Amino acid sequence: MSGPAATTLLVASRNAKKLTELRRLVVSEGIEGVTVIGLDEVPAFPETPETGATFEDNALVKAVDGCAATGFACLADDSGLEVDALRGMPGVLSARWSGRHGDDEANLRLLLGQMSDVPDERRGAAFVSACALVTPSGGQHVVRGEWRGRIVREPLGENGFGYDPIFVPDDDDMSGGSVAGRTAAQLAPAEKDAISHRSRALEQLLAVLRDLGTGS
Ligand code: IMP
Repeated sequence: MSGPAATTLLVASRNAKKLTELRRLVVSEGIEGVTVIGLDEVPAFPETPETGATFEDNALVKAVDGCAATGFACLADDSGLEVDALRGMPGVLSARWSGRHGDDEANLRLLLGQMSDVPDERRGAAFVSACALVTPSGGQHVVRGEWRGRIVREPLGENGFGYDPIFVPDDDDMSGGSVAGRTAAQLAPAEKDAISHRSRALEQLLAVLRDLGTGS
């Protein structure tokens, strides 16, 4: 006899690399009874423009749209980089800081130019991820994870995406090794997953995701 049908969880992101990270994080938690799918596995649906003032607002809108259009529980992340010396910018504008949405190289170069005269002791920053989970029964959960670090002067590393090559996390130690001095783009995927803003946000949704899997 087969067991109960798995609950489908739609992970809603148009950013392929971010989607890979989100899926990897959900799958690595081994949540039983949940099948993870991406936007490419459901028919296209109209999406509300991301014009919210906060990461939380944007994440919730994405998750509400995905759940309403498909009938599946939907997980969405809205994230970005908050730089202390830029008073929290680029923030919700991180993906389009240079004017072209998703142009990681141009965004990072513009930011480095803006920071060129900022001394080492004032180069602090944080990656922020707001994750929203909306369920067909009307449940809404929004959480935030932050990852502190500093902006270096030259990009280093090939992994990750976005501003990873210019962000060195503050974490100096983690299970099995040190991240000290390495940019987020120099970390192996598993190293980034262990400490990133996205994993810190998702951690707070694990109980709800597990309930989803058991149908409770
Ligand atoms: P969103 O798709 O509107 O949430 O845009 C997120 C943007 O923030 C990305 O395009 C990146 O520029 C930046 N960002 C978010 N998370 C990360 C990360 O983990 N590493 C590097 N950049 C990130």
